[in-house]
Amino acid sequence: MPATILDGTRIAQEIRSEVAAEAKAKTAAGVRPGLEVLVGHNPASEIYVRGKVKACDEVGIYSETLTPPDSSTTAELLALVEDLNRRDEIDGILVQLPLPPQVDAKKVLLAVDPAKDVDGFHPMNVGFLSTQRPGLVPCTPAGVMEILKRSNIAVAGREAVVVGRSDIVGKPVAMLLTNANATVTICHSKTHDLPGVCRRADILVAAIGRAGMITRDYVKPGATVIDVGMNTVTDPAEFQRFFAGNAKREETFRKKGSTLIGDVHPEVAGIAGAITPVPGGVGPLTIAMLMFKTVKAAKMRRANHVPELSRT
Ligand code: NAP
Repeated sequence: MPATILDGTRIAQEIRSEVAAEAKAKTAAGVRPGLEVLVGHNPASEIYVRGKVKACDEVGIYSETLTPPDSSTTAELLALVEDLNRRDEIDGILVQLPLPPQVDAKKVLLAVDPAKDVDGFHPMNVGFLSTQRPGLVPCTPAGVMEILKRSNIAVAGREAVVVGRSDIVGKPVAMLLTNANATVTICHSKTHDLPGVCRRADILVAAIGRAGMITRDYVKPGATVIDVGMNTVTDPAEFQRFFAGNAKREETFRKKGSTLIGDVHPEVAGIAGAITPVPGGVGPLTIAMLMFKTVKAAKMRRANHVPELSRT
């Protein structure tokens, strides 16, 4: 039986509608949530930031974009961040990497007030997550958990395997799954018998950055497979290897000269119980969760970290 497709676009839309209702209520009460995006002059970053600003407009979050000159020094950016930390109408600060090469990006990220760190990368938020305290969790991992929750996929007591251990995706996903009472294994490039370990998973999360690496030999029949990977295929031979016979993909590839593929091979849809597509799976959740986090940051900061707020 073919896998159930976990429709991230629909789930993201559901979250955005909920966030819009909350942002509207907050604005009516005189506290409109606000997001500041600090971004360098980088074409890819500019595209991402445009998407984030558009999403803010749609859900009723106030947003500003700050693009410092390419010649900026670390000290100048730190001063900008300090100013944003002080501004009460700014609830979330997002530093869109890369910053200009002479800037110490780690120092800049560390300077962001943890209460406004909507990316959830600040070590203080990492600590809150690992000790199960309320805080701000990275957006993509939070999106993975929302897909599971809103698709009624049980997590507690189940075997979860996460392939990838980055600070941005793999580790926080593994921590969120642990906090949700899954039995979690984290894999990486030095893991022995990766297919064998992955086959233990009831829930398999792929966050690797390698096109179609997870083939059917990695998947237990009926498992839920969450594909975080976003890889661009431009080589026609590689395209054929993954998508031969898929008329819709072939048409897109012909028109655009490229297509997006996850870390999971399309053949896995024939063995998994449920699977996120690429595109249209985890991707749309990332921006929806950024909107959610901005409103959450507004609530937490303005209420001085009220502990009953949800953790994802
Ligand atoms: P990353 O920092 O490059 O981390 C990749 C991880 O995969 C590392 O832990 C690495 O292991 C592991 N890995 C690489 N090759 C492997 C192999 N052959 N076998 C086993 N493990 C292997 O990447 P990332 O930032 O976590 O991103 C992962 C993917 O998610 C990328 O495709 C990225 O584009 C995508 N992504 C998507 C979204 C979204 O919104 N959907 C957001 C963020 C990222 P080592 O630690 O041993 O090197």
